[in-house]
Amino acid sequence: MIDPFGRSINYLRVSVTDRCDLRCVYCMSEDMTFLPKSDLLSLEELDRVCSTFVKLGVRKLRITGGEPLVRKNVLNLFENLGRHLKTGGLDELTLTTNGNRLAKYSEALRTAGVKRVNISLDSLNAKRFKAITRWGNHEKVMDGIKAAKAAGLKIKINTVAMRGVNEDEFNDLVAWCGDEGFDLVFIETMPMGNIDEDRTDQYLPLSLVRADLSRHWTLTPINDNTGGPARYTRCAETGGRVGFITPMTHNFCESCNRVRLTCTGTLYMCLGQDNAADLRTPMRASEGNELLSQAIQEAITRKPKGHDFIIDRRHNKPAVGRHMSVTGG
Ligand code: SAM
Ligand code: SF4
Repeated sequence: MIDPFGRSINYLRVSVTDRCDLRCVYCMSEDMTFLPKSDLLSLEELDRVCSTFVKLGVRKLRITGGEPLVRKNVLNLFENLGRHLKTGGLDELTLTTNGNRLAKYSEALRTAGVKRVNISLDSLNAKRFKAITRWGNHEKVMDGIKAAKAAGLKIKINTVAMRGVNEDEFNDLVAWCGDEGFDLVFIETMPMGNIDEDRTDQYLPLSLVRADLSRHWTLTPINDNTGGPARYTRCAETGGRVGFITPMTHNFCESCNRVRLTCTGTLYMCLGQDNAADLRTPMRASEGNELLSQAIQEAITRKPKGHDFIIDRRHNKPAVGRHMSVTGG
């Protein structure tokens, strides 16, 4: 599928639930209203939509949320989608998780065909981790990370850079990821959904982070493209990869190959815009996948050129009303 700007769309991210067992300060307010469970696509329907995308040329599927591993029986979805890896229809099946349940699920995910996992970890300090995630237990997440490593999953750590919150730990994170053999990717906070705090206070441009890291580490840009928005460097001292996702300071839209499905069957063509297509109605309208395929292809013709994220004192309002946990990170 090619969009109006000539970009090939071969990557689908699927939020299988908007719920989560943590409440990270930049992502959610503590008191969230979630979608009624009756609005969710069933796991069979999620499989149907994903499989239709694979038929239309999607080569990479990322399961996300909310926290994907809190969705009941989610392992069945991974196991079923794994069939596309076997037939060669799909290059990669992966997930983004907070790591809370990886001790339980890592082995089974590996068996289902998952080879890589993105794990969010914003601090190596237990007390601070708790303050950022509100409900998190650092030890449990570290056990999850250990289990994922032991199961042979390749690990990428996602760290949201927050001014005055975790900025004094970035060197430690680079060193730790280097020791463990993990990739590390820093992310700028994006203005998505209302949270309890002020995003202007949290926002830390990664240009500053990178400049600061460069005083301690030799970071050489490399051309590795994992199909996502991160721009990578190689750290000479650790040998590891350090990436930067800079939606705010450096727009990555020109190479965007992604669309995002919510757990209720709405397809968002851009994380930072409201353009959307309802896939649930055409899917449920017939047993075959013809109408669904048509709806997907029509949606791709409406993929916008890029997002309009701005964070400053004059624009201290979310660019889009929905939280990251709805569209899926
Ligand atoms: N619960 C899983 C997790 O935390 O990895 C998957 C979903 S979470 C929404 C996906 C990623 O989005 C996480 O790495 C999280 O740190 C990031 N994220 C959430 N809200 C964000 C925001 N407003 N700006 C930037 N990144 C955000
Ligand atoms: Fe949950 Fe992930 Fe959002 Fe944190 S970032 S609240 S773990 S969905």
